[in-house]
Amino acid sequence: MKKYKHIFFDLDHTLWDYDANAALALYELYDQYEISKIADCTKEQFVAQFFEVNESIWDLYNKHQIERAHIRERRFATIFDRLNIKLHIAPQQFDIEYVDLCPTKENVFEGTHDILNYLKGNYKLHIITNGFDDVQYTKMKCAKIDHYFDVVVTSENSKSRKPAPEIFQLALSKSGATLQESIMIGDNLDSDIMGARNFGMDHIWFNPEKKQSQIPPTYEIQALYQLRNLL
Ligand SMILES: [Mg+2]
Repeated sequence: MKKYKHIFFDLDHTLWDYDANAALALYELYDQYEISKIADCTKEQFVAQFFEVNESIWDLYNKHQIERAHIRERRFATIFDRLNIKLHIAPQQFDIEYVDLCPTKENVFEGTHDILNYLKGNYKLHIITNGFDDVQYTKMKCAKIDHYFDVVVTSENSKSRKPAPEIFQLALSKSGATLQESIMIGDNLDSDIMGARNFGMDHIWFNPEKKQSQIPPTYEIQALYQLRNLL
């Protein structure tokens, strides 16, 4: 094992439990807006539709086909349309409420605090995320993990998005790290793993669902505690 000094974490779906937190926020909004009374859709269907639409919209964002404002314009408009939900507020307003609420949810993946405490003693820890400054800072603060990280590079403050090499380069220069002493940890094959690989950075694929990949990553883990064996 190479001697690393800097560890770059992805945030969503790697440390911060995006799905659990999104579901919590959506359940609350579903109740608040009494969606069960105005549409033939259960809480679970509402959340399932959100995940489907949200993933395809974020895919477009990561590929530079849409901008942040379009996420907000399109997301709940599409979901409401598909589920035939007609609220007295605009889908864009609903999205604002969702984006205010969701980042305040505190679920992180099992072992997050333990492993960050352990790693913090031996490495400099940083974040590279394709999210937005305000949203990502709120998530880290509410989940009480913000104090672990030195440098936080977002797609907003870097004006680039994983897998683009520019965002990795900026993370290195901001943290004063060299490529050889750095490693990236993330869940997303396209943005984190291919991004790091093409940039020449070692990487660890966080793959709790045991998905298949054609291209072998430098390392692969199913749970965060396994990082103790690697780092
Ligand atoms: Mg992720």
